[in-house]
Amino acid sequence: MTSSSHLDWPFLEPRHKALATDLDRWAGRALSEDLQDHSVRAVDEACRRLVRQLGEGGWLKYAIGGTAYGASADTIDTRAVCLVRETLARHSGLADFAFAMQGLGSGAISIFGSPEQKGRYLPCVAKGTAIAAFAISEPDAGSDVAAVTCAARQDGESYVINGEKTWISNGGIADFYVVFARTGDAAGAKGISAFIVDANAHGLEIAERIEVMAPHPLARLVFKDCRVPATQRLGESGQGFKIAMSTLDVFRSSVAAAALGFARCALHEALSRSTSRKMFGQQLADFQLTQAKLAKMATDIDAAALLTYRAAWLKDMGLPVTVEAAMAKMTATEIAQQAIDSAVQIFGALGVVSGKTVERLYREIRPLRIYEGATEVQQLIIARGIIKTHQESERERG
Ligand SMILES: Cc1cc2nc3c(=O)[nH]c(=O)nc-3n(C[C@H](O)[C@H](O)[C@H](O)COP(=O)(O)OP(=O)(O)OC[C@H]3O[C@@H](n4cnc5c(N)ncnc54)[C@H](O)[C@@H]3O)c2cc1C
Repeated sequence: MTSSSHLDWPFLEPRHKALATDLDRWAGRALSEDLQDHSVRAVDEACRRLVRQLGEGGWLKYAIGGTAYGASADTIDTRAVCLVRETLARHSGLADFAFAMQGLGSGAISIFGSPEQKGRYLPCVAKGTAIAAFAISEPDAGSDVAAVTCAARQDGESYVINGEKTWISNGGIADFYVVFARTGDAAGAKGISAFIVDANAHGLEIAERIEVMAPHPLARLVFKDCRVPATQRLGESGQGFKIAMSTLDVFRSSVAAAALGFARCALHEALSRSTSRKMFGQQLADFQLTQAKLAKMATDIDAAALLTYRAAWLKDMGLPVTVEAAMAKMTATEIAQQAIDSAVQIFGALGVVSGKTVERLYREIRPLRIYEGATEVQQLIIARGIIKTHQESERERG
């Protein structure tokens, strides 16, 4: 940590500082570190427990929008979401995951839901009594998300969904899924719509549970003639791609914030170890090679934090954020991976022992560079954005 806390930066308001401080205190008391049993059953149980705890603690009200439905604000407070994720990630990767998915899984409802849809789902999400999931990826539609083939055919007052979704976080424990499916003949991004599908809907099957290096509930879903009332469609028909991208625009900066939480935890561990480990007659931190590592970690973390809270602030100000959120997500996840790797190196053999904090962080950070748009996808978003801005300003100048 540098001498001034990032909580004092001008992007944040006093209420944000109070939130981060209170949550840090709560997390220190309420979150027991590290899940040793990585079985699907144990991970599911831990996740359900965390969602309940976060709901009871009042923290999930920051994951949704709409005070009438139990939210902290009428629109999702992106800076609050980022601070909650950063703080939780410093204490527990699974608690951060549980919070993040309540937000991402219900984000489309907060932003595009009808009053009935909001009233039915959001209060339960905020209380932690319903678990949310976001289902867009398919085996052949990941980075190329507009290639989804899962289809929803209108049949009278309902839609009939057929197809597959994979890599779905909370798959298997969610109470509802926001599902993106093709409703029209229009190719690519144009013919997609979004639906809220209850987990007990007939024809929705959890086809496979997927175990990953940083355990959390993950599944492949199959829809076989799964009928949902037309009232479960979010927004207009054909608006699904826009709904997905608008939701990701809110939550993409929060992936950066989670990465920051992991990186700060790694820096803390590296400082503790290097100032206590004796070798060659002095401490590891006395060597300039170690100091270079620590200096790079601290500087990279601050640089990534500036990008992250700039993006969150822009979003809260109602300003365009696509490029800035991509810069934050790319930078924070990449530097966190490097910082954690440096921490493992500083720990030596102890760093690769199962259950050690830095070993856990090493596994936890990896997927963040892939989901919600891999680093390469963020690079393309940034490049397209700056090229477009350049061309527009050239045209204006004549
Ligand atoms: C832990 C985890 C949780 C997830 N949770 C969810 C969820 O809840 N809901 C959901 O819908 N999805 C979820 N996903 C899926 C995630 O969004 C996709 O994995 C991601 O979009 C990448 O898609 P893919 O895995 O099919 O990789 P691919 O699309 O096959 O891409 C593979 C690699 O190609 C590279 N690449 C991509 N585009 C380009 C390009 N234009 N140029 C050069 N290289 C490129 C990148 O390095 C990328 O990692 C999750 C994934 C993980 C790992």
